[in-house]
Amino acid sequence: MHSSNPNRCEYCARLIYKNISGRYKLCSLRCKNYFRRYKANNELEKIIFQNISKGWNQINTIFSLVHFVDKFEFISAVGRMVHFDNTLKTKSKDELSMRSYISKVKK
Ligand SMILES: [Zn+2]
Repeated sequence: MHSSNPNRCEYCARLIYKNISGRYKLCSLRCKNYFRRYKANNELEKIIFQNISKGWNQINTIFSLVHFVDKFEFISAVGRMVHFDNTLKTKSKDELSMRSYISKVKK
């Protein structure tokens, strides 16, 4: 499913150094636990996308508008949108943090 970026964790979308899962690409036990209950229904992604206004938005700001997930779920969803779905882009090449800036990719 995420073949466009083979070196990234399928849950948090960070670069993978050691795969801890046989079947999926997952970087940590934490990701494995979250991935297990993660439903690929794109609801969170949709809400994130709707809450991003024109220009650069800090992840913290968007997160403060979403109340049903924790920070890790949130930033992982943003990571998947940046690295796998290519619906968002980041200002910096560094791994995402709550202080990173994101923007919609114009289609
Ligand atoms: Zn991960």
